[in-house]
Amino acid sequence: MPVTPDQQAEIDALRASPRQTLRAVSDGAEKHLYTAHPVLDHGFVRLIDYMGDDAAICQAARVSYGKGTKSVQNDEGLIRYLMRHWHSTPFEMCEIKLHVKLPVFVARQWIRHRTANVNEYSARYSILDREFYMPDPSQLAAQSTINNQGRGASLTPDESARVLDILKGDAAQTYDHYAEMIAEEGPDGTPKQGLARELARMNLPANIYTQWYWKVDLHNLFHFLRLRADAHAQYEIRVYADVICNIVADWVPAAYGAFADYRLGGAVLSAKGLACLQRMLKGEEVTQETSGMSKGEWREFQGVLA
Ligand SMILES: Cc1cc2nc3c(=O)[nH]c(=O)nc-3n(C[C@H](O)[C@H](O)[C@H](O)COP(=O)(O)OP(=O)(O)OC[C@H]3O[C@@H](n4cnc5c(N)ncnc54)[C@H](O)[C@@H]3O)c2cc1C
Repeated sequence: MPVTPDQQAEIDALRASPRQTLRAVSDGAEKHLYTAHPVLDHGFVRLIDYMGDDAAICQAARVSYGKGTKSVQNDEGLIRYLMRHWHSTPFEMCEIKLHVKLPVFVARQWIRHRTANVNEYSARYSILDREFYMPDPSQLAAQSTINNQGRGASLTPDESARVLDILKGDAAQTYDHYAEMIAEEGPDGTPKQGLARELARMNLPANIYTQWYWKVDLHNLFHFLRLRADAHAQYEIRVYADVICNIVADWVPAAYGAFADYRLGGAVLSAKGLACLQRMLKGEEVTQETSGMSKGEWREFQGVLA
């Protein structure tokens, strides 16, 4: 379950107590504040706070005193210009703080993005919940034969069932051992010492859930989303990135629109790729052999054109 009834009551209480402010307010972000958007089987993404809006990006770019906005169209044009020309610092003037619940193996990929501030749930201090990511059978696939870092054909139903049995059995067993190691009473109620939580956690598998608060500026968030909302990213982190994309699209619609156009939906061509495209536009038939590109580069180039 992503949130318990008690946690939902806390979220509802926060959403029921609006306050007055002189700060920039994004109506699109306000509708997400505190709400837990479910991801995977037990995870979620919650918007906890944000700073700035589309206008704040333009204010910073123009170093203006007031709103500095000439019109919404002007702002959108400026934002698209900034994005197109990699003038990134105005985007750093907006920030977002998220509460994320995610499996540990997803957190390991996520934490590689160093340009964020993170505070993680302490498994030295607290007892971890018995919550493990169990993939949907549709996500259980064999190792890809063309991409060493990916998955290929789906497993057969029998093979999926066998894998899920193993995952469930291992999760149950390791959590039982964790609970047994930290327990301060034996099964018959006799007091015992119990192992420290910081040590007992070491045998828990990487599909157990952790949680953190994650704060990042919009420029670095776009970099994260560019990599993790991409089709090449692992499904289990991509679903989180997709949810964050939806929140950002509501928070800063013009900036997200420019990002979706130039980065997410756009493509970067190498000099060789550009030369091939120019030859093709002139009517020449170009093949991998005549392109000057490796097989992998050619495959990716064709993927861009398709
Ligand atoms: C598809 C995919 C596969 C991957 N596979 C692997 C893998 O097999 N093994 C692995 O270890 N990682 C892997 N990674 C992680 C990847 O190498 C990056 O660590 C991760 O994507 C974070 O990117 P980043 O460093 O650009 O982001 P951030 O840490 O947020 O940094 C943003 C930018 O800030 C600058 N920056 C930040 N810190 C420094 C620094 N110390 N020095 C110089 N510049 C800095 C850089 O310009 C950087 O691009 C993979 C990532 C992806 C998307």
